[in-house]
Amino acid sequence: MSTHTPPRSLSSAILHLKCPRCREGDLFKPGSTLLKTANMYDRCEKCGVSFQQEPGFYYGAMYISYGMGVAIFMPLFIVTQIVFETPWWFFLGSFFLIVAILIPSVFRYSRAIYLSLFVYYHDDAIEKYKKECEDAKV
Ligand SMILES: [Zn+2]
Repeated sequence: MSTHTPPRSLSSAILHLKCPRCREGDLFKPGSTLLKTANMYDRCEKCGVSFQQEPGFYYGAMYISYGMGVAIFMPLFIVTQIVFETPWWFFLGSFFLIVAILIPSVFRYSRAIYLSLFVYYHDDAIEKYKKECEDAKV
């Protein structure tokens, strides 16, 4: 039995866009630009878990990004329309501006959260994967 403690919590793994199984491998390839937002690894480089669970898997992440959109919309609506009573065009303009700026982050975090709903932490995932790789070489 392994006494390995998680390198980070689940919330920290999501915040840092790490693999939900080992919480150490990166989900996305480096070099984040707007055009490369969806540049995701096929497998975890540390534990080997597949990030492509099945074709169309990440369609479900749209529900997460929808929730994030509502989480942006509601406070902005309350502040601009109820507290400061700004014109509606100011609210809509600021909403679309904020959403446009946050699209890459919302996209990546919604995928990280969605994947973590289906892939659970294993404390010995990295050791098992290393052993499998060594066994495959022999
Ligand atoms: Zn991993």
